[in-house]
Amino acid sequence: MGKFIPLSIPNFEGNEKKYVVDAIASTYVSTVGGYVSKLEKELAVFLNVKNVAVCQSGTCALHLSLIEAGVGPGDIVIVPSLTFIAAINPVKYQFATPVFMDCDDSFCMDPIKLKSFCEEKCRWDGVALKHNGVIVKAIVVVHVFGNMADMESIMDIAEQYNLKVIEDATEALGTKYTRGKYQDKYAGTIGDFGCYSFNGNKIITTGGGGAVTANDPAVVDHLRFLSTQAKTDPHYYIHDEIGYNYRMTNLQAALGVAQMEELPEFIRRKQQNYERYKNLFDGFDYGTLMPFREGTSSNKWFYSIKIKRSCITTSMREIILALHDRGIETRAIWGLINEQKPYEDEEIYKLEKAPYYASRILNIPSTTQITEEEIKYVAEEVKRLLRSLADG
Ligand SMILES: *Cc1c(COP(=O)(O)O)cnc(C)c1O
Repeated sequence: MGKFIPLSIPNFEGNEKKYVVDAIASTYVSTVGGYVSKLEKELAVFLNVKNVAVCQSGTCALHLSLIEAGVGPGDIVIVPSLTFIAAINPVKYQFATPVFMDCDDSFCMDPIKLKSFCEEKCRWDGVALKHNGVIVKAIVVVHVFGNMADMESIMDIAEQYNLKVIEDATEALGTKYTRGKYQDKYAGTIGDFGCYSFNGNKIITTGGGGAVTANDPAVVDHLRFLSTQAKTDPHYYIHDEIGYNYRMTNLQAALGVAQMEELPEFIRRKQQNYERYKNLFDGFDYGTLMPFREGTSSNKWFYSIKIKRSCITTSMREIILALHDRGIETRAIWGLINEQKPYEDEEIYKLEKAPYYASRILNIPSTTQITEEEIKYVAEEVKRLLRSLADG
């Protein structure tokens, strides 16, 4: 194979160029312009919600959600350990305190441990949940790699203990339940807030960008207001709250409107390519293609191979570099956030699966442009390498 096979790169096969040129021609390149509101409407229609606000990044979406959830200095927010650090940093922007929770086999937050933490480590006073006397305000649930967290269990716990649920659906645009209590509900539309990202490697991209929705449409209006410097008067510069410069630009939104036209096709390809890998890894001893939650239709954004311990002779880096030499881009799952320098001293709760998966998950190319032939090549090379490492 002569061509390098990337992990996940943008796909601009549609109207991207046309709409971006149109936005430039209109001179509306900043936060005012037709594409911004068009993208908001299209996301709302796609997600079947009333109101969506677009913003500069998934990180802003998360930050605005925490603000709106009332998370402030000293509050506790329960967060995942195995995730991208952008899901946790906004907790610190609000001077709140994270407690790191374990994942289940979906890589998403383990509801059983979440419940036992609330029962055993906290005290419910009839109004608020307290941990060491401090209020536990919210949970950040990340739908890792396009998988759906166990929202039925998590929402029950959140209701019981009056916790706000912020869904980090940055990797899961298009993932939905196909049965059960939340049948037909999309990731990000079940909790109090849902956050999306359109960064370069996400299922759709605006270069940088994000969106946020909430179960209360009036709250989304307020989030949008905060994202535009909290300007209250159309003619005078009157601001009655501290706002942010978080609004998406028309240039970004033009890209986003074109990408939304292609989203169903991107999801179809990701799902089809996942099935191809699944057939190729079926019965392979040294690596297992991880499944997505039953009862859901996932966007299958990223594919994960769980590598047998005996193949990891030195480190995951060795595997990543060896595959790179064969023209294949792969990556390790994230380092645990509670082990990162700014979070070393924070509280953790029964972390078992998070470190287990952190040490043995390899993401393989899931880019929408990948061909069937390339998938076969990737699977063959990954299997050949793992076999040779296991045999020593
Ligand atoms: C991408 C991502 C984010 C942040 O999105 P940005 O748009 O890059 O700010 C947050 N959480 C998770 C899990 C992500 O993958």
